[in-house]
Amino acid sequence: MQESFRVRTRKKLEVVDITRGVAAAVLRSAVAEGVCTVFVRHATAAVVINENADPGFRADIVAALDKLFPEGVWEHDKVDDNGAAHLKAAFLGPSESIPVQGGRLLLGTWQGIALVECDGPREREIVVDVRA
Ligand code: ZN
Repeated sequence: MQESFRVRTRKKLEVVDITRGVAAAVLRSAVAEGVCTVFVRHATAAVVINENADPGFRADIVAALDKLFPEGVWEHDKVDDNGAAHLKAAFLGPSESIPVQGGRLLLGTWQGIALVECDGPREREIVVDVRA
């Protein structure tokens, strides 16, 4: 089963929890045992799985990405001035795979799935592919 949903981001660089949207798609798939792939269809956004309870950690991801990839010093900035956004997204990657067990995502207690917006605000499309 494959479906997609859209997320409207509000900031240039932002971490948005999408765990519920993905979990709902897994329930609708009725797959008991398998793999769920979450994929963002954009070159300046990423999907990560990490600590989900502390909003401070989401701020840490934003701060770390800004330190790693400063603005305005990249070759791609000559094209459309968002080289740092592409590098942040490439560093994190566009997808994650999560085992499905008992019809549910096999996430750890503190793990959540997040969209990382690197060049917002924009509307982003997330594809959820669940296979038995
Ligand atoms: Zn670009």
